[in-house]
Amino acid sequence: MIYLDHAATTPVSPEVAQTMVEALTKGYGNPSAQYALGREAKALTDRARGSVAGALGARPEQLFFTSCGTEGDNWAIRAALHQNRRVGKHIVTTAVEHSAVLQCVKQLEREGYTADCVKPDGEGRISAEAVLNAVREDTALVSVMLVNNETGAVFPVAEIAAGLKDRPALLHTDAVQGFLKIPFTAKSLGADYITLSAHKIGGPKGVGALYIGGRAKNTLPLLFGGGQEAGLRPGTEPVAQIAGFAKAVELRQERREEIIAHMNACRDYAREKLSAIPGLRFVGPASAPHILSVSLPGYPSQNIVGELDGKGICISAGSACHRGKASHVLTAMGLDKRTAAGTVRISFGPETEFADIDALAEALLEHKNTRFPML
Ligand code: PLP
Repeated sequence: MIYLDHAATTPVSPEVAQTMVEALTKGYGNPSAQYALGREAKALTDRARGSVAGALGARPEQLFFTSCGTEGDNWAIRAALHQNRRVGKHIVTTAVEHSAVLQCVKQLEREGYTADCVKPDGEGRISAEAVLNAVREDTALVSVMLVNNETGAVFPVAEIAAGLKDRPALLHTDAVQGFLKIPFTAKSLGADYITLSAHKIGGPKGVGALYIGGRAKNTLPLLFGGGQEAGLRPGTEPVAQIAGFAKAVELRQERREEIIAHMNACRDYAREKLSAIPGLRFVGPASAPHILSVSLPGYPSQNIVGELDGKGICISAGSACHRGKASHVLTAMGLDKRTAAGTVRISFGPETEFADIDALAEALLEHKNTRFPML
């Protein structure tokens, strides 16, 4: 099998799996329990918090484990609006956020908030100026992702943070696709809330984290229950998931420069190989090292993905979360229908080999040569 869908999820390495197995079978105590087994589980969770926070350059007490990136996005948005409830009910975000942000904002609109969604240019870029121009006196929250999951565009979060310094609006960034892929720290970004997810960096599914720092204070709990996660996100900690997340972070941190350079090289090699396919178009700036979107205008992406699947090659049609639906990202970029419908996303990880890209290029060329355009 050739796996070229690392922006959808990533394989868990044997080291991460082993760490999780040990936490499940030996360190299975409840971290709140008062005996040694519980204390060990608590120590494991504390160490993990230190590792993940460390990779962000944050303090452990600024990092809260969640069940996924979606949860972190929803929580950050609700918490910011709660803190700024006296500022107003206006939200600024972008038209190309992940559904975890956009659908949450849609629900808030049903609850009486108003939102402005800044549109990208034709390449999928968002300028800090456009975001800051949309901010009003009553803007309580600005939510702008760090790396777009469909186009690999990197957004100017630090510049937006600087522009909001003297404004009441709090800043959230969904850094799920940026974490350990592009260099940043909580300080260099300057966001008040930063969402992470483990399964995009070689960790398990079902665990993520939310950094809460900067000007965020008196955080609204996500859930109400016991005292876990400082009482803000109660529920018995999924110790194995958390330990696996931390192990994945440590492994990527150790080889960060090398892995980023490798993904950059894969993306550049793919760009070179795929540019030989007649009619193929590149979609978006692909600034992040791991994401490259391309279109075969006229050839429906679901058919491409299906045919490649038959050859054991995994890529996705736009975002994995939008199966079957026209991508809101490509629509917001103003792509014509044929190009948008023919767009597939290829994404790379440390395990990707150039031979995988050769096989992909061959399969895409064969698709183009053996099918009639349908659109
Ligand atoms: N945000 C972005 C940019 C993503 O790419 C994803 C996953 O596809 C998410 C949020 C959601 O993360 P999770 O799958 O952990 O809920």
